[in-house]
Amino acid sequence: KDMYNITSIRSEFPILSRQVYGKPLIYLDNGATTQKPLCVLDAMRHEYLNANANVHRGVHYLSQKATDLHEAARTTVRKFINAQSDNEIIFTRGTTEGINLIASSFCEGFMQPGDEVIISTMEHHSNIVPWQLMAARHGIAIRVIPMDDNGELILDEMDQLFTSRTKLVSVMQVSNVLGTVNPIKEIVRRAHLHGVPVLVDGAQSVPHFKVDVQDLDCDFFTFSGHKAYGPTGVGVVYGKEEWLEKLPPYQGGGEMIATVSFEKTTFAELPFKFEAGTPDYVATHGLATALDFLSSLGMDNIQRHEQELTRYATEQLKTIDGMRIFGHSIDKDAVISFLVGDIHHLDMGTLLDRLGIAVRTGHHCAQPLMARLGISGTVRASFGLYNTREEVDAFVAGVRRVSAMF
Ligand code: PMP
Repeated sequence: KDMYNITSIRSEFPILSRQVYGKPLIYLDNGATTQKPLCVLDAMRHEYLNANANVHRGVHYLSQKATDLHEAARTTVRKFINAQSDNEIIFTRGTTEGINLIASSFCEGFMQPGDEVIISTMEHHSNIVPWQLMAARHGIAIRVIPMDDNGELILDEMDQLFTSRTKLVSVMQVSNVLGTVNPIKEIVRRAHLHGVPVLVDGAQSVPHFKVDVQDLDCDFFTFSGHKAYGPTGVGVVYGKEEWLEKLPPYQGGGEMIATVSFEKTTFAELPFKFEAGTPDYVATHGLATALDFLSSLGMDNIQRHEQELTRYATEQLKTIDGMRIFGHSIDKDAVISFLVGDIHHLDMGTLLDRLGIAVRTGHHCAQPLMARLGISGTVRASFGLYNTREEVDAFVAGVRRVSAMF
């Protein structure tokens, strides 16, 4: 407990001390993006001021400095998710690009018209639309794992979806709407029984608890830096080396080639084969700094803190008349989606904003999930490592006050 000193943690995030509309900011939109600690901003500023040059091809001092930082970031990411090799870590712009990369390369390399991908009811649009694009371009079909009323995937029904045409399963580890923590290890185990690889959308898991890709045994994993206290515009795809070796490149350009002539081009070794163009090498350094910051706090401590907040907030919200919380999985992460009576989510969000409370409203890029729940949207509070019990109290008081206005 002593290690987790919330006051000193919050001092790393000056934005948390600002006011909005003359009220102290209560930032509960961490599922959309997190605030950045000073150490991340300092690291990026330091690189721009002292070591800025394009990476990989430069013989000069600054280019080598920047390259060292960029490649050190790859190693930090590799250790953070416990991948086996730096070759398994591809830098992208975020989760969305990561899923598009795998969808595009995997379909091109391993899917024929009529082949199938399995996703789930609760997926973010970024794990639905890329497959629909592939369906239109390559004639693949999409199968969907159903969900029960607690907001848990029905794995026995998933088992029924596998056919001889199933080529890939792509599911989220944590729902950005319900907070459900899906049993990825078990999903991977079952998929592998059918010889089918699994892609995991880790956008909402990496910031909240320890992820070990070797323990999960997933074949691909992707996440965004900006949801894990790192900068915007950078993310990661992990892939087992044996898979990444076999997949065709995603984009073409500089950095990803070995030799180019107009007759024939050969591609670079991993991981560069998947990294066309100048990467955001300052952002990768910022991301590594953020992951080091998380490690210094301890992912287990962060998880314990956020779970306490989530449990406390859930109990308190339930005392409000007409409260409906969505998602009752026993294994639930730092997200609470709710509605109160007939109050529209947008009205609730707008009025909470006037009290200085930042929440998200709407469909949360999960319209098929909203359809399953029979609603058009929710109000979502999502917690980060710096939120406090006092903030939860103010948030609940805010929801109570707004509810009383209707
Ligand atoms: N998947 C999930 C579960 C998410 O919550 C998000 C972000 N809301 C994404 C994917 C997309 O992430 P990004 O916009 O950073 O690419």
